[in-house]
Amino acid sequence: MEGDVRVYLDHNATTPLRAEARAAMLAAMDVAGNPSSVHAEGRAAKMMVEKARGQVAALVGCDVSEVIFTSGATEAIAGVVQDAGNVAGAAVEHEAVRIWCPEAEQLPVDHNGHVDLNALPDGALAGKTLFLQRANSETGVLQPESLLDELARLGASPASVFRDAVQAAGKLPDLGRWRSDVGRHASLAVSAHKLGGPKGIGALIAGPEYTPGLMQPMLRGGGQELGRRAGTENVIGIAGFGAACAAAAQDLADGVWERVAELRNVLEKALEAASKKTIFVGKDVARLPNTSCFITPGWRGETQVMQMDLAGFAISAGSACSSGKVATSRVLTAMGFDDAEASCAVRVSLGPDTTKEQVLRFADAWTAKLKKHEARAA
Ligand code: PLP
Repeated sequence: MEGDVRVYLDHNATTPLRAEARAAMLAAMDVAGNPSSVHAEGRAAKMMVEKARGQVAALVGCDVSEVIFTSGATEAIAGVVQDAGNVAGAAVEHEAVRIWCPEAEQLPVDHNGHVDLNALPDGALAGKTLFLQRANSETGVLQPESLLDELARLGASPASVFRDAVQAAGKLPDLGRWRSDVGRHASLAVSAHKLGGPKGIGALIAGPEYTPGLMQPMLRGGGQELGRRAGTENVIGIAGFGAACAAAAQDLADGVWERVAELRNVLEKALEAASKKTIFVGKDVARLPNTSCFITPGWRGETQVMQMDLAGFAISAGSACSSGKVATSRVLTAMGFDDAEASCAVRVSLGPDTTKEQVLRFADAWTAKLKKHEARAA
Protein backbone atom coordinates (compact mmCIF):
# COMPACT_ATOMS: atom_id res chain seq x y z
CA MET A 1 0.00 0.00 0.00
CA GLU A 2 1.30 3.45 -0.94
CA GLY A 3 -0.54 5.35 1.80
CA ASP A 4 0.13 4.17 5.35
CA VAL A 5 -3.29 5.04 6.83
CA ARG A 6 -6.44 3.69 5.22
CA VAL A 7 -9.26 6.13 4.51
CA TYR A 8 -12.72 4.59 4.14
CA LEU A 9 -14.87 6.53 1.68
CA ASP A 10 -17.45 3.87 0.80
CA HIS A 11 -20.16 4.54 3.38
CA ASN A 12 -22.99 3.91 0.92
CA ALA A 13 -21.78 0.32 0.51
CA THR A 14 -21.66 -0.20 4.26
CA THR A 15 -20.58 1.75 7.31
CA PRO A 16 -18.09 1.01 10.07
CA LEU A 17 -19.78 -0.14 13.26
CA ARG A 18 -20.52 2.73 15.64
CA ALA A 19 -19.06 2.40 19.15
CA GLU A 20 -22.58 2.62 20.60
CA ALA A 21 -23.74 -0.29 18.43
CA ARG A 22 -20.74 -2.41 19.38
CA ALA A 23 -21.39 -1.80 23.10
CA ALA A 24 -25.07 -2.71 22.77
CA MET A 25 -24.20 -5.87 20.86
CA LEU A 26 -21.62 -6.95 23.44
CA ALA A 27 -24.21 -6.48 26.18
CA ALA A 28 -26.76 -8.49 24.17
CA MET A 29 -24.29 -11.36 23.74
CA ASP A 30 -24.39 -11.92 27.46
CA VAL A 31 -28.17 -12.26 27.62
CA ALA A 32 -29.01 -15.95 27.49
CA GLY A 33 -32.77 -15.83 27.05
CA ASN A 34 -35.09 -16.19 24.08
CA PRO A 35 -37.29 -13.08 23.83
CA SER A 36 -40.36 -15.34 23.64
CA SER A 37 -39.60 -17.01 26.99
CA VAL A 38 -41.45 -15.80 30.05
CA HIS A 39 -38.61 -16.25 32.57
CA ALA A 40 -36.24 -13.45 33.65
CA GLU A 41 -33.63 -14.30 31.01
CA GLY A 42 -36.28 -14.23 28.27
CA ARG A 43 -37.71 -10.97 29.56
CA ALA A 44 -34.22 -9.42 29.55
CA ALA A 45 -33.79 -10.34 25.89
CA LYS A 46 -37.28 -9.06 25.09
CA MET A 47 -36.46 -5.77 26.79
CA MET A 48 -33.43 -5.33 24.54
CA VAL A 49 -35.53 -5.97 21.44
CA GLU A 50 -38.22 -3.53 22.55
CA LYS A 51 -35.70 -0.84 23.48
CA ALA A 52 -34.22 -1.13 19.98
CA ARG A 53 -37.68 -1.04 18.42
CA GLY A 54 -38.24 2.29 20.14
CA GLN A 55 -34.88 3.60 18.89
CA VAL A 56 -35.65 2.59 15.30
CA ALA A 57 -39.14 4.12 15.52
CA ALA A 58 -37.70 7.37 16.89
CA LEU A 59 -35.27 7.69 13.96
CA VAL A 60 -37.85 6.83 11.33
CA GLY A 61 -40.65 8.82 12.95
CA CYS A 62 -43.18 6.02 13.25
CA ASP A 63 -45.05 4.12 15.93
CA VAL A 64 -43.22 1.22 17.60
CA SER A 65 -46.01 -1.11 16.44
CA GLU A 66 -45.00 -0.35 12.84
CA VAL A 67 -41.43 -1.68 13.17
CA ILE A 68 -40.96 -5.27 11.93
CA PHE A 69 -37.37 -6.49 12.30
CA THR A 70 -36.01 -8.34 9.25
CA SER A 71 -32.64 -9.61 8.10
CA GLY A 72 -32.17 -6.38 6.14
CA ALA A 73 -33.78 -4.21 3.52
CA THR A 74 -33.69 -6.94 0.87
CA GLU A 75 -35.99 -9.10 3.01
CA ALA A 76 -38.25 -6.14 3.83
CA ILE A 77 -38.61 -5.41 0.12
CA ALA A 78 -39.33 -9.05 -0.75
CA GLY A 79 -41.93 -9.17 2.02
CA VAL A 80 -43.78 -6.18 0.59
CA VAL A 81 -43.67 -7.66 -2.90
CA GLN A 82 -45.05 -10.95 -1.65
CA ASP A 83 -47.87 -9.13 0.13
CA ALA A 84 -48.65 -6.48 -2.47
CA GLY A 85 -48.08 -8.51 -5.64
CA ASN A 86 -48.48 -5.95 -8.37
CA VAL A 87 -45.41 -3.65 -8.21
CA ALA A 88 -43.63 -1.01 -10.25
CA GLY A 89 -40.44 0.93 -9.53
CA ALA A 90 -38.18 3.59 -10.99
CA ALA A 91 -35.49 2.32 -13.36
CA VAL A 92 -32.86 3.52 -10.86
CA GLU A 93 -34.11 1.44 -7.92
CA HIS A 94 -31.69 -0.82 -6.08
CA GLU A 95 -31.35 -4.35 -7.45
CA ALA A 96 -33.29 -5.66 -4.43
CA VAL A 97 -36.32 -3.77 -5.81
CA ARG A 98 -35.61 -3.95 -9.52
CA ILE A 99 -35.44 -7.72 -9.50
CA TRP A 100 -39.22 -7.69 -8.80
CA CYS A 101 -40.09 -5.13 -11.46
CA PRO A 102 -40.00 -6.47 -15.00
CA GLU A 103 -38.48 -4.01 -17.48
CA ALA A 104 -41.97 -3.01 -18.61
CA GLU A 105 -42.84 -1.98 -15.05
CA GLN A 106 -39.80 0.26 -14.63
CA LEU A 107 -40.52 3.95 -14.67
CA PRO A 108 -38.22 5.97 -16.93
CA VAL A 109 -35.97 8.61 -15.35
CA ASP A 110 -34.45 11.83 -16.68
CA HIS A 111 -30.77 12.79 -16.84
CA ASN A 112 -30.79 13.58 -13.11
CA GLY A 113 -32.35 10.24 -12.18
CA HIS A 114 -35.76 11.68 -11.32
CA VAL A 115 -38.82 9.74 -12.47
CA ASP A 116 -39.77 11.31 -15.81
CA LEU A 117 -43.50 11.94 -15.68
CA ASN A 118 -43.52 13.02 -19.33
CA ALA A 119 -42.36 9.55 -20.35
CA LEU A 120 -44.75 7.67 -18.05
CA PRO A 121 -47.07 5.41 -20.04
CA ASP A 122 -50.82 5.89 -19.38
CA GLY A 123 -52.13 3.73 -16.54
CA ALA A 124 -48.57 2.65 -15.62
CA LEU A 125 -49.34 2.68 -11.91
CA ALA A 126 -52.98 1.69 -11.84
CA GLY A 127 -53.60 -0.73 -8.97
CA LYS A 128 -49.87 -1.05 -8.30
CA THR A 129 -47.57 -0.58 -5.35
CA LEU A 130 -44.97 1.99 -6.37
CA PHE A 131 -41.47 1.25 -5.08
CA LEU A 132 -39.77 4.58 -4.80
CA GLN A 133 -36.35 5.11 -3.31
CA ARG A 134 -35.81 8.21 -1.21
CA ALA A 135 -32.15 8.44 -2.26
CA ASN A 136 -30.10 6.59 -4.82
CA SER A 137 -27.16 4.58 -3.50
CA GLU A 138 -24.88 5.22 -6.50
CA THR A 139 -25.53 8.90 -7.17
CA GLY A 140 -27.07 10.11 -3.90
CA VAL A 141 -29.84 11.82 -5.92
CA LEU A 142 -33.14 12.24 -4.03
CA GLN A 143 -36.44 11.52 -5.74
CA PRO A 144 -38.47 14.75 -5.47
CA GLU A 145 -41.23 14.40 -2.90
CA SER A 146 -43.48 16.40 -5.24
CA LEU A 147 -43.66 13.34 -7.49
CA LEU A 148 -46.53 11.84 -5.52
CA ASP A 149 -48.52 15.10 -5.78
CA GLU A 150 -47.79 15.28 -9.49
CA LEU A 151 -49.02 11.72 -9.94
CA ALA A 152 -52.20 12.59 -8.02
CA ARG A 153 -52.70 15.70 -10.18
CA LEU A 154 -52.39 13.57 -13.30
CA GLY A 155 -54.88 11.05 -11.88
CA ALA A 156 -52.07 8.47 -12.02
CA SER A 157 -51.59 7.67 -8.32
CA PRO A 158 -50.50 4.15 -7.46
CA ALA A 159 -52.58 2.04 -5.11
CA SER A 160 -49.84 2.32 -2.51
CA VAL A 161 -46.24 3.42 -2.03
CA PHE A 162 -43.19 1.68 -0.63
CA ARG A 163 -40.22 3.91 0.20
CA ASP A 164 -36.71 2.49 0.10
CA ALA A 165 -35.13 4.69 2.77
CA VAL A 166 -31.97 2.60 3.13
CA GLN A 167 -29.56 5.33 2.04
CA ALA A 168 -31.57 8.21 3.48
CA ALA A 169 -32.15 6.90 7.01
CA GLY A 170 -29.79 8.60 9.42
CA LYS A 171 -28.54 11.04 6.76
CA LEU A 172 -31.75 12.98 6.11
CA PRO A 173 -34.10 14.29 8.80
CA ASP A 174 -37.08 13.60 6.57
CA LEU A 175 -37.52 10.11 5.15
CA GLY A 176 -40.22 11.21 2.78
CA ARG A 177 -43.88 10.52 2.40
CA TRP A 178 -44.76 6.92 2.84
CA ARG A 179 -47.92 6.91 4.90
CA SER A 180 -51.33 6.01 3.67
CA ASP A 181 -52.30 9.27 2.01
CA VAL A 182 -51.44 7.37 -1.14
CA GLY A 183 -53.38 4.25 -0.39
CA ARG A 184 -53.30 1.12 1.72
CA HIS A 185 -50.20 -0.74 2.70
CA ALA A 186 -47.79 2.20 2.81
CA SER A 187 -44.39 0.95 3.92
CA LEU A 188 -40.69 1.73 4.14
CA ALA A 189 -37.41 -0.17 4.57
CA VAL A 190 -34.27 0.67 6.54
CA SER A 191 -31.04 -1.25 7.00
CA ALA A 192 -28.72 -1.14 10.02
CA HIS A 193 -25.41 -1.44 8.20
CA LYS A 194 -25.91 1.81 6.29
CA LEU A 195 -26.09 3.86 9.47
CA GLY A 196 -23.40 2.41 11.70
CA GLY A 197 -25.17 -0.76 12.79
CA PRO A 198 -24.29 -4.38 12.05
CA LYS A 199 -24.84 -6.13 8.72
CA GLY A 200 -27.74 -8.55 8.32
CA ILE A 201 -30.43 -6.69 10.24
CA GLY A 202 -32.98 -4.12 9.14
CA ALA A 203 -36.65 -3.31 9.38
CA LEU A 204 -39.80 -3.10 7.39
CA ILE A 205 -41.79 -0.16 8.66
CA ALA A 206 -45.35 -1.01 7.87
CA GLY A 207 -48.17 1.51 8.08
CA PRO A 208 -51.37 0.96 10.07
CA GLU A 209 -52.97 -1.05 7.27
CA TYR A 210 -50.38 -3.76 7.84
CA THR A 211 -52.15 -4.88 10.98
CA PRO A 212 -51.42 -8.38 12.19
CA GLY A 213 -53.60 -10.80 10.29
CA LEU A 214 -53.98 -8.56 7.26
CA MET A 215 -50.42 -8.86 6.02
CA GLN A 216 -49.30 -12.02 4.27
CA PRO A 217 -45.95 -12.66 5.98
CA MET A 218 -43.12 -14.16 3.98
CA LEU A 219 -41.78 -16.09 6.97
CA ARG A 220 -44.39 -17.99 8.97
CA GLY A 221 -43.91 -20.05 12.08
CA GLY A 222 -43.46 -19.02 15.67
CA GLY A 223 -45.52 -15.85 15.42
CA GLN A 224 -42.77 -13.40 16.38
CA GLU A 225 -43.10 -9.72 15.39
CA LEU A 226 -46.88 -9.96 15.94
CA GLY A 227 -47.04 -12.74 13.38
CA ARG A 228 -45.59 -10.55 10.65
CA ARG A 229 -42.11 -12.14 10.55
CA ALA A 230 -41.54 -15.47 12.23
CA GLY A 231 -38.23 -16.74 13.62
CA THR A 232 -36.37 -16.15 16.85
CA GLU A 233 -35.22 -12.56 16.87
CA ASN A 234 -31.59 -11.65 16.10
CA VAL A 235 -31.29 -10.01 19.51
CA ILE A 236 -27.63 -9.04 19.10
CA GLY A 237 -28.18 -7.49 15.69
CA ILE A 238 -31.37 -5.78 16.80
CA ALA A 239 -29.63 -4.27 19.85
CA GLY A 240 -26.83 -2.94 17.62
CA PHE A 241 -29.33 -1.60 15.10
CA GLY A 242 -31.25 0.26 17.80
CA ALA A 243 -28.13 1.81 19.32
CA ALA A 244 -26.92 2.86 15.85
CA CYS A 245 -30.28 4.52 15.17
CA ALA A 246 -30.06 6.46 18.44
CA ALA A 247 -26.53 7.62 17.60
CA ALA A 248 -27.57 8.50 14.04
CA ALA A 249 -30.49 10.56 15.38
CA GLN A 250 -28.03 12.43 17.61
CA ASP A 251 -25.77 13.11 14.61
CA LEU A 252 -28.75 14.54 12.73
CA ALA A 253 -29.62 16.76 15.70
CA ASP A 254 -25.99 17.91 15.93
CA GLY A 255 -25.87 18.97 12.27
CA VAL A 256 -23.12 16.46 11.43
CA TRP A 257 -24.33 16.00 7.85
CA GLU A 258 -24.22 19.72 7.09
CA ARG A 259 -20.50 19.51 7.85
CA VAL A 260 -20.20 16.39 5.68
CA ALA A 261 -21.99 18.13 2.78
CA GLU A 262 -19.42 20.93 2.98
CA LEU A 263 -16.61 18.37 2.81
CA ARG A 264 -18.24 16.71 -0.21
CA ASN A 265 -18.35 20.12 -1.90
CA VAL A 266 -14.69 20.74 -1.01
CA LEU A 267 -13.87 17.40 -2.58
CA GLU A 268 -15.78 18.10 -5.79
CA LYS A 269 -14.18 21.54 -6.11
CA ALA A 270 -10.70 20.03 -5.79
CA LEU A 271 -11.43 17.30 -8.35
CA GLU A 272 -13.02 19.79 -10.70
CA ALA A 273 -9.91 21.96 -10.52
CA ALA A 274 -7.79 18.92 -11.40
CA SER A 275 -9.93 17.67 -14.28
CA LYS A 276 -12.17 19.85 -16.38
CA LYS A 277 -13.62 16.84 -18.20
CA THR A 278 -14.93 15.13 -15.06
CA ILE A 279 -18.74 15.05 -14.86
CA PHE A 280 -20.39 15.18 -11.42
CA VAL A 281 -23.62 13.21 -11.59
CA GLY A 282 -26.71 14.92 -10.18
CA LYS A 283 -24.72 17.93 -9.01
CA ASP A 284 -27.50 20.40 -9.79
CA VAL A 285 -30.27 18.58 -7.92
CA ALA A 286 -30.85 17.61 -4.29
CA ARG A 287 -28.51 14.81 -3.24
CA LEU A 288 -27.48 13.01 -0.08
CA PRO A 289 -24.98 15.14 1.80
CA ASN A 290 -22.22 12.52 1.68
CA THR A 291 -22.25 11.22 -1.89
CA SER A 292 -20.26 12.20 -4.96
CA CYS A 293 -20.53 10.17 -8.15
CA PHE A 294 -18.27 11.31 -10.95
CA ILE A 295 -17.33 10.20 -14.43
CA THR A 296 -13.88 10.85 -15.87
CA PRO A 297 -14.16 9.84 -19.54
CA GLY A 298 -11.42 7.46 -20.67
CA TRP A 299 -10.43 6.33 -17.16
CA ARG A 300 -12.33 3.21 -16.15
CA GLY A 301 -14.02 3.26 -12.77
CA GLU A 302 -12.75 -0.21 -11.96
CA THR A 303 -9.17 0.95 -12.59
CA GLN A 304 -9.67 4.03 -10.43
CA VAL A 305 -10.98 1.88 -7.58
CA MET A 306 -7.93 -0.39 -7.74
CA GLN A 307 -5.48 2.50 -8.01
CA MET A 308 -7.07 4.40 -5.14
CA ASP A 309 -7.16 1.20 -3.08
CA LEU A 310 -3.41 0.86 -3.54
CA ALA A 311 -3.07 4.48 -2.47
CA GLY A 312 -5.00 3.71 0.74
CA PHE A 313 -8.55 4.80 -0.13
CA ALA A 314 -11.72 2.66 -0.28
CA ILE A 315 -14.20 3.90 -2.90
CA SER A 316 -16.45 2.07 -5.35
CA ALA A 317 -17.39 1.91 -9.01
CA GLY A 318 -20.74 1.07 -10.55
CA SER A 319 -22.56 -1.44 -8.46
CA ALA A 320 -20.47 -4.06 -6.75
CA CYS A 321 -21.89 -7.53 -7.28
CA SER A 322 -21.50 -10.15 -4.59
CA SER A 323 -18.95 -11.79 -6.88
CA GLY A 324 -16.71 -8.76 -6.41
CA LYS A 325 -17.01 -7.96 -10.12
CA VAL A 326 -18.08 -4.49 -11.15
CA ALA A 327 -20.96 -4.32 -13.61
CA THR A 328 -21.58 -1.24 -15.72
CA SER A 329 -24.00 0.87 -13.75
CA ARG A 330 -27.54 0.44 -15.05
CA VAL A 331 -28.49 3.40 -12.85
CA LEU A 332 -26.26 5.64 -14.95
CA THR A 333 -27.36 4.12 -18.26
CA ALA A 334 -31.02 4.60 -17.21
CA MET A 335 -30.09 8.27 -16.67
CA GLY A 336 -28.90 8.50 -20.27
CA PHE A 337 -25.14 8.08 -19.88
CA ASP A 338 -23.70 5.75 -22.51
CA ASP A 339 -21.87 2.54 -21.58
CA ALA A 340 -18.44 4.14 -22.07
CA GLU A 341 -19.31 7.00 -19.70
CA ALA A 342 -20.99 4.71 -17.17
CA SER A 343 -17.93 2.45 -17.08
CA CYS A 344 -15.79 5.45 -16.07
CA ALA A 345 -17.83 6.37 -12.97
CA VAL A 346 -16.76 6.12 -9.37
CA ARG A 347 -18.60 6.87 -6.15
CA VAL A 348 -17.04 8.44 -3.10
CA SER A 349 -19.30 8.36 -0.04
CA LEU A 350 -18.25 10.10 3.15
CA GLY A 351 -19.22 9.26 6.71
CA PRO A 352 -19.96 11.26 9.85
CA ASP A 353 -16.32 11.02 10.96
CA THR A 354 -14.68 11.89 7.63
CA THR A 355 -12.26 14.81 8.00
CA LYS A 356 -11.24 17.63 5.68
CA GLU A 357 -7.66 16.38 5.79
CA GLN A 358 -8.82 12.95 4.49
CA VAL A 359 -10.87 14.49 1.71
CA LEU A 360 -8.00 16.71 0.56
CA ARG A 361 -5.57 13.79 0.76
CA PHE A 362 -7.95 11.79 -1.44
CA ALA A 363 -8.19 14.64 -3.95
CA ASP A 364 -4.38 14.91 -4.11
CA ALA A 365 -3.92 11.16 -4.58
CA TRP A 366 -6.67 10.98 -7.22
CA THR A 367 -5.17 13.91 -9.11
CA ALA A 368 -1.72 12.28 -9.08
CA LYS A 369 -3.20 9.02 -10.44
CA LEU A 370 -5.13 10.93 -13.09
CA LYS A 371 -1.96 12.67 -14.27
CA LYS A 372 -0.20 9.30 -14.51
CA HIS A 373 -3.16 7.84 -16.42
CA GLU A 374 -3.16 10.79 -18.83
CA ALA A 375 0.60 10.55 -19.35
CA ARG A 376 0.27 6.82 -20.16
CA ALA A 377 -2.66 7.42 -22.49
CA ALA A 378 -0.87 10.24 -24.37
N1 PLP B 1 -31.83 -0.45 -1.06
C1 PLP B 1 -30.77 0.37 -1.19
C2 PLP B 1 -30.98 1.76 -1.73
C3 PLP B 1 -29.49 -0.06 -0.84
O1 PLP B 1 -28.45 0.75 -0.99
C4 PLP B 1 -29.33 -1.39 -0.35
C5 PLP B 1 -27.99 -1.91 -0.01
O2 PLP B 1 -27.02 -1.59 -0.66
C6 PLP B 1 -30.47 -2.20 -0.21
C7 PLP B 1 -31.70 -1.70 -0.57
C8 PLP B 1 -30.37 -3.60 0.34
O3 PLP B 1 -30.16 -3.54 1.73
P1 PLP B 1 -29.66 -4.79 2.61
O4 PLP B 1 -28.19 -4.84 2.44
O5 PLP B 1 -30.03 -4.43 4.02
O6 PLP B 1 -30.37 -5.99 2.15
